[in-house]
Amino acid sequence: MNGPSYSAAELLSRLVHFDTTSHKSNLALIAFVEDYLAQHGVESHLVPSADAAKASLYASIGPIGVPGVALSGHTDVVPVEGQTWSSDPFVLTERDHRFYGRGSADMKGFLACVLAAVPDFLKRKLAVPISIVFSYDEEVGCIGVRPLIAEIGRRFVTPRMVIVGEPTSMSVVDAHKGPVRWHVEIKGRAAHSSMAPLGVNAISIAGKLLQELARIERELKTSPRAERFDPPYATLQVTRIDGGTATNIVPVYCRLDFDVRALPGVDVDAIDRRIRAYADRECVPEMRRVAPESGIDISVANQVPPFAAGTNSEAVALALRVAGHNETHAVSYATEAGLFQEAGSPSVVIGPGDIAQAHAADEFIAKDQLDECMAFLDRLGAWAERGAPVR
Ligand SMILES: [Zn+2]
Repeated sequence: MNGPSYSAAELLSRLVHFDTTSHKSNLALIAFVEDYLAQHGVESHLVPSADAAKASLYASIGPIGVPGVALSGHTDVVPVEGQTWSSDPFVLTERDHRFYGRGSADMKGFLACVLAAVPDFLKRKLAVPISIVFSYDEEVGCIGVRPLIAEIGRRFVTPRMVIVGEPTSMSVVDAHKGPVRWHVEIKGRAAHSSMAPLGVNAISIAGKLLQELARIERELKTSPRAERFDPPYATLQVTRIDGGTATNIVPVYCRLDFDVRALPGVDVDAIDRRIRAYADRECVPEMRRVAPESGIDISVANQVPPFAAGTNSEAVALALRVAGHNETHAVSYATEAGLFQEAGSPSVVIGPGDIAQAHAADEFIAKDQLDECMAFLDRLGAWAERGAPVR
């Protein structure tokens, strides 16, 4: 079937025009992609969100039932609220060999390149199938791709490898940190502040927890360390705190959030156990002596696994070969690669655009980054046609 052929820039312009900020629906964009693929005779399979307001898309080109190379990207973008843009963020605007628009770098540029390469993939007699995996809600904790990954090995063949096209300026990334976010809720007992011993001060308890978190943060700075990351250690940050009601009331409630950016190999469960044990040992007994109803609730709000491809990764070897590079990099931002890798598909991160522009006002992708990605996909198609071993 001879469907329409568009340049990556033309497709990027269409994709940017859909406002797929994470809290909004991405279904209009997905329908566009589905229609585009259908015009090329490629069938799409959707994995909807629980509320059916969003969907991931899976499509495959080439032999059926054979593990192939998945090209993966997210359709959602971060909000533009509070940012000052020189042009409409949802209208792709070309200035100085750059395309400006929300998501141009992160990561509709990659999606556009993948879609633009579809006619070329179809022309080839692929020995190794190339599949397309577009997710949602990546920017709010790699949430949308998880139901799709749950279908891998059932509805979808487990990919032989996954290329995640997050913006790396087309360099090969084989490791990243994994963010973990905790919510802590402290329930004390209110009292008139002149009668403090009758109450349990939730903010004071939060203060004790903050000290323990600061100790953990200091320890993480020294062990483990991996110099290829910047910073070369796992970070722990308290990111939000609120509590208290008035200046003359012992605060009954305090909530705090903290975030760990774990290096591959950091035992996140051990951090979780440690903070819970500290709360149980150092805080809760004294709280309960005054107020039996008081307590501390600690929960993990979101966890994205760190990613480490490992030294023998076929995905990394293929990406290096196809990109013509001989070195890999580690980054501190998270992607869906750790999740794919956990699900049994060797993964690698390489995509057009610079992470420095991602999430910023006047986000852009350089024209030559799109060209470089198209050349990468062209060589990937040639490799998949030969079906030669990677090494
Ligand atoms: Zn992204």
